[in-house]
Parts: sequence; C-alpha cells; structure tokens
Amino acid sequence: MDNANSAPIVIAGPALGTLAFEWLYFPTLALTALGTMSWFLHTGQHVETASFVISVSVLLITMLFERVHPLNPQWNQSRGDLGPDFSSLILVGVFVEGALKKAGPLIALYAFLALDLPQNYRLIPDSMPLWAETLLVLLIIEFAKYWFHRMGHENLRWWPLHSVHHSVKRMHLLNGFRIHPLYHLCTFALGVVPCYLIGASQEALILNSVLLAIGGSIQHCNIKLRYGWLNYVFNTNELHRWHHSKRLDEANHNYGAVLIVWDVMFGTHYYRPDGSPQELGIHHEERYPMNNYWKQLLIPFRWKAKMMD
Ligand SMILES: [Zn+2]
Repeated sequence: MDNANSAPIVIAGPALGTLAFEWLYFPTLALTALGTMSWFLHTGQHVETASFVISVSVLLITMLFERVHPLNPQWNQSRGDLGPDFSSLILVGVFVEGALKKAGPLIALYAFLALDLPQNYRLIPDSMPLWAETLLVLLIIEFAKYWFHRMGHENLRWWPLHSVHHSVKRMHLLNGFRIHPLYHLCTFALGVVPCYLIGASQEALILNSVLLAIGGSIQHCNIKLRYGWLNYVFNTNELHRWHHSKRLDEANHNYGAVLIVWDVMFGTHYYRPDGSPQELGIHHEERYPMNNYWKQLLIPFRWKAKMMD
C-alpha cells in the first residue's frame, strides 16, 4: 500500500478562535453598546454623557482591532489622508453635528408653533415601545439617507457634493467621517427633522445616534469580519468597500448608512463575500484635491473649473 497516496489532504484555514472573532465581533459590539445605552436610558441617569462615551468607545475599540486583525494590512498605512479625515471629523462630527442636535428640537418647536400644534404633539402613539419607535426612526432616517446618497451617485448635479466622501484610497475607520458639511446638513434635514416633526422621543433619537456610531465603525473599518445573513440587514464593511470602488458598476450600490434593507428592496444590494475592489477612489484624481479637505469643501462650487474640460 502506498502511504503517500493515502495521506489525508489537509486544507489550512483560520483557527477556531479567529473564526469565532470574525463572526462574533459585530453582534457582540452592537448588543453590548445598545444594551449599555438602554440601561442608562432606563435609569435616566447621565444619558447624554453615556451616549457620547459609548460612541467614542465603539470607535476606539474598532481602531484597536484594525491593528490586531486587519482585512488589508496595507490599508493601515497612511497615504497622507489622516489630515483630511481628522479635519472632517472635527468639523462635521463635532461642530456641525453638535449644532444640529441643538437645532433639531428648535426646528420642531418652530414648526409646531407655525402649524398651531401643541408642543407635546406626537404622531407616534404613546403605547409604542421604545425598541419599535427606535426601529421606526431608524427606517425613516435610513430611507432619506438612501435616496439622497443614491441621487449623489446617479445625478451629476449632486455628485460634486458627495464626491468628498469618495476621495479616499483605502478603507479604514476614520475615512468614514470624510464628508462635506452641506451633505450632512441635507441628510439631517431630510431624515432627522421629519422624525422630530412626528414627535420622535429623545430616547429613540439617542439610541439612533449610538446605532449610527456602531454602523459607521463597522461600515468603513479595516477589520476582517464575517456577517453571513446580516449582510442583508446591515451595511457592513463586506458590502461598503465595494461602494468605494473606482469601477462604477461596483460603486453604484450599497447606499445605506446603518441598514442595507432599502438597497435590498430597491435593487442596489451588491454582495461579493471574500473579495475586495481592485482600486478605490474617483475618476480624474489628478485634478481633485485628494488630500486637502479645505479645498474639497470648495469642490462643489468649482466643479466645472476644476474637473471638467
Ligand atoms: Zn457614495
């Protein structure tokens, strides 16, 4: 008998611990963050502070695991893009978002007064449990974000405003924040303001901000993770990296922010597990201020002069 021919074929694969991490990272992170936030909401103590600390913790944990278990080690190397990423994080993530959080209730109050509605006016029934209200708010915000994002890709008038987000050459947590403040303002007006107008509670909106922190960290992160059927519910990094492809037939998909359900419903869901686009970025990069965020802020107003012959 030939021992060489009867030797078992061994296929090398990831260790069990690695597989467990890749499958369980996202559900564990999401459930822990949401569970902790729900507890603070239940006790009514330090709610705003808890929301901030949980969101920042999610981002820091994500940055840590980008180093420990990267999907693409080359994406952990800076390409002169940290300056624009941080600039946008401070301008949009801190100042603009902070101002909008204060403006939202005032806009709703102004609308109620203009329409002669009582201040405690609510279209959402009081009997609706918080989890259902949070889901409703999330679906409304995601619906607005989906269509505005899709319009940014399919309508050339809106692409210059959205192009800032696609001026990245690698996927990592921080470039998820690269966005034009006017784009952020539009998605707030289309998605969050209607939630105030139907009387969404502060608790549901706070839970949504935590969901956005989790979704934002998952969508862009350079961590090798697996999601399976969750790729039909959430816009994971297995899906979103295709959205940043330079090829339009790959990029014009997966428009959701936290959820992917509207993409599934409207036929723009694109799922190719275990793959990555060949190149990220935009066309005519030589004309675009790829690593200068302040010049990118002017791009929507100078598109013809800079990008078109
Ligand atoms: Zn996009």
